[in-house]
Order: sequence, then C-alpha cells, then structure tokens
Amino acid sequence: MGARTTRFGRIFTHFMFPWLAGNYSAIHAGVSNAPEAFRAELATWRHNLVMKYRANFIFALFSWSTAAIAAPALVAIDVGHGGIDGGATSARGRPEYAFNREFAGVLAGVLRERGQDVREVNFAGDIGSLVARPERAAGSDFFISIHHDSIGEAWLKPWVWEGNEQSYTEVKRGYGIFISAQNPDPETSLRCASSMGAMLRRAGFEPSSWHGRKHLPADAENGVWYYDKLVVLYRTTLPAVLFEAGVIKHRDEELELTDPERQARMADALATGISACLFVTGKSAPE
Ligand SMILES: [Zn+2]
Repeated sequence: MGARTTRFGRIFTHFMFPWLAGNYSAIHAGVSNAPEAFRAELATWRHNLVMKYRANFIFALFSWSTAAIAAPALVAIDVGHGGIDGGATSARGRPEYAFNREFAGVLAGVLRERGQDVREVNFAGDIGSLVARPERAAGSDFFISIHHDSIGEAWLKPWVWEGNEQSYTEVKRGYGIFISAQNPDPETSLRCASSMGAMLRRAGFEPSSWHGRKHLPADAENGVWYYDKLVVLYRTTLPAVLFEAGVIKHRDEELELTDPERQARMADALATGISACLFVTGKSAPE
C-alpha cells in the first residue's frame, strides 16, 4: 500500500494538481532536459496517464453529484410517550401512546413506499427520557414526534363508556403542528411544518384554532404554533416538529383517528409536505 500511495502522491503532485490548478506548463516542465526520443515517449505516457486520471476524476465527480441528488432523506419518527407514561387518555379510555404508535407505523410505511429512509424512535415504547429521543435521531435529516391531543380538565364532561367512567370534550378538535424557536434550525423546522400543514388542509384536514389560547402563531392558517419549551424540539441538532394528529378526548374525532383509510390519507399529506420542504433545503442527502 505504501508504494501505491507514494506513487499516487507523485502522480497527483506532478499531474493532477497542476491540471486542477490549470497550470499545463508545469506538467511538461520536468521533461525538458531529457534526450529527444525519451522525452517524446515520456510525454506520451504522461499524457495518457493524465487523460486517464482526468476521465476518472470527471466520472467520480459526476457520480458523486448524482448520488448526492438521488440519496433519499432520512426521517426520524418518534412515538410520543410509552412505557409507564401512556400520555393522555381518550374519550373511550385508550392511552395516547397506542394512537401514537399506530399512526407512526402508518407514516413510516408511507414514507418508505415513497423511497424515503425512516429511523424508528421509541417504536417499542421503551424510551422514557425525552432527551434520549432526539439523540437516537442524530444523523437524520428531519425529526417528527407523533402525539395526540387532549384538553384541560375545565373543558371535560363525564360519561360512561362500556361500564367505565370516562371524560370527553366537545369544544376542541383538529390537528396541530408545533415548532420551537430554540431549535438549531428554526427556519427549516417552520418551512417543513408549514408545508405539512398546507398539505393536510389540501387533503381536507382542519387545524385546531384552540392552540391560539396558549401558543404564539408561527403559521396559524396551516395550524403551526410555537412551543419553545418542548425538549424534543430544542435538544436536537435537527429541524424538528411535534405533530398532534387530533384530539382524542373528542368522541367523534377519536373514532376518525382510528380509521385506517383516514390515517393513510393523513400520513400521505405529511409525507408530501416533508418531501417538499426537505427538497427545498437541499439537505436531502445526509452529510
Ligand atoms: Zn402527547
């Protein structure tokens, strides 16, 4: 290997570097003092060598740029809650984690069908720490945490479902997308959140206006709000969003959120939005 490295080093210094620097005369300078016939032979050999490496170099450049364009984005999908923390509880008593896990699986499937790479975070529900979630996503191009929404106690009414006392709301429903201004890439986070929201609306989904009570609007029309103190959104190196698919305390919306056809449609809208915003950033290839 040593001999090859040295030889390549010499070839690079003598031929490639002057060529790259546009200095053709330097390539021929070394042969000026040799006998005529030898010089001609050496010049031909060097010329052929230069052309060979030049062709390889151009080919390598072309392949590299093609690969950079064609490489799919790596999207990290985090399933909110899990383990002993089931998150919110639906109007019919189902834990939020179950909704999150189900929809994260649908979204992962849709993204993979479209040729995107997916990194599954907390799909087994075994990551308790909020800080560990974005750490598992390191190296991805985008981070999305999947959640389902609830509502404050004051707006809950009691009812009985299958013999058990539960609670529900009628005042809040719809999706919400959250970003943090403290994220290291707030610009991409917002662009992705907005394009996801726009695609959701085009597919017939409605954002919840309820979030305007507690959160500053980032792009309210598309259902995007600021939520700066969310650990999963700012303790990361990636553009990140937290997605609340809907309000599981709303009895009708709870049922809609478990409908496989609707889940697929929602996942399709999100996948289109993510692809579009990552394409625009030019960061589709992992660096
Ligand atoms: Zn949650």
